[in-house]
Amino acid sequence: MPEGHTLHRLARDQRRDFKGHKVTLSSPQGRFADSARLLDQHVVERVDAYGKHLFTRFDSGEVLHVHLGLIGKFRRQPSPPAAPVGIVSVRLEGPTATWDLSGPTVCRVVDPPEMERVVSTLGPDPLRRGADPERFIQAVQRSAKPIGALLLDQSVIAGIGNVFRAEVLFVHGIHPSTPGTNLDRATILAMWDTLAGWLRDGVRRNRIVTNTLAEPLHVYHHELCGTCGTPLVSIEVGGRRIDFCPMCQPAPL
Ligand SMILES: [Zn+2]
Repeated sequence: MPEGHTLHRLARDQRRDFKGHKVTLSSPQGRFADSARLLDQHVVERVDAYGKHLFTRFDSGEVLHVHLGLIGKFRRQPSPPAAPVGIVSVRLEGPTATWDLSGPTVCRVVDPPEMERVVSTLGPDPLRRGADPERFIQAVQRSAKPIGALLLDQSVIAGIGNVFRAEVLFVHGIHPSTPGTNLDRATILAMWDTLAGWLRDGVRRNRIVTNTLAEPLHVYHHELCGTCGTPLVSIEVGGRRIDFCPMCQPAPL
């Protein structure tokens, strides 16, 4: 699943291609034909990412809401585009570039209040200007749930996926099962800063998730700890498997 930086990079690139331009919308697959018809030939006013959600606002006042989920993808090509390849849910054709969306979990037309409602369910997104780490700190410290689950909870912090949660817990020497209530403020803030740095770097470098970090990954899809050589342990936390080092990330007391 893409992490938040992928969505922020998409927002940035689509803003460049569409903002202020009339866009031709279609649904080659047919399933979103009604939505596409509503937005077709309207001007894009803005494109924003919040966590893993992408919102494209049109001059009609309507908003295209997309969540890529596990397998969703956007592909870009110069306009005029070639015929769609595979199943394309929605095609957005601007004057210079065309974007094809396939396999999204969410693809729907909403009004601005509904967009606000979706955004209000999300925790702070480190990539949004003015994001408040205090909300993250308090949400973690108030919860007895494992930090490994809290990091994936989009209402606690928006935009973090399986790769970054495994890596940030390793880098800070925290066992994934540690209850949020056990963590002190400085540690939680340090995790926020680390994640914000990786996400910003990911937007800038525009790499796929596993190649996002400037440094090699430490635990994600590894068998041995990159620091001490101990075999990594895999457990399920927050509904997804996570690898950790039992030496570098000791179990909570
Ligand atoms: Zn280790």
